[in-house]
Amino acid sequence: MTIDEIAGIADELETASSTEILRWALARFSGSIVAACSFGGPSGMVLLDQMVALDRSIPIFYIDTGLLHAETHEHCRRVAEHYKIAPLVVCAAVSLAEQNERYGDRLWERDPDRCCEIRKVDAQRNFLVGYRAWISGIRRDQTPARARARVIEWDEAFDIVKINPLARWSDQEIWGYIQERNVPYNALHDRGYASIGCVPCTKPSVAGDPRSGRWPGHLKTECGIHGR
Ligand code: SF4
Repeated sequence: MTIDEIAGIADELETASSTEILRWALARFSGSIVAACSFGGPSGMVLLDQMVALDRSIPIFYIDTGLLHAETHEHCRRVAEHYKIAPLVVCAAVSLAEQNERYGDRLWERDPDRCCEIRKVDAQRNFLVGYRAWISGIRRDQTPARARARVIEWDEAFDIVKINPLARWSDQEIWGYIQERNVPYNALHDRGYASIGCVPCTKPSVAGDPRSGRWPGHLKTECGIHGR
């Protein structure tokens, strides 16, 4: 697909429902599409719930940086059981021990961009090789970098088409869906963590600012997977 074709389809599907967008994507990229779910945010759970309802065989992956909360691992295990799926675990090519050796301990304190690049972005880049499209649960209201997300776009970071079926959704709509359908969510959300990443870089959020608990003390708001 050319960039112009993708932009044209994004225009056509801008007002479509998330399920309609997913249906289009699953048909268009059949056999070569994969969905991400971090198990650290409510949007990913809505995406997963809708995906599984349409096609349980689409691979769903998450990145295990080696620094996730025990609650995130437990949530992933419960979700797998609940939906009868087997999420694929994507890990960095560099182990934490190797990272410590190369860059020193606790790289995330000194250079979180580098740490995220190694543990998340590079890991995802390696994993996506061979796929033609990936599906993400990002929303425009989450960060400045996500505000311009199209429902379908060319992802320059990974050289692949990116589908954002929930781009237009609000936090309120996400939680409304979760409560209405009893969708499982990460237990840390009930302890003030609105958005959950790695243990050293996640704190409870300030009310009204769901991303405020990510990388506290740094200007960073994105790991790099969805821009910077
Ligand atoms: S969130 Fe923190 S610990 Fe996790 S990969 Fe990024 S910088 Fe490293």
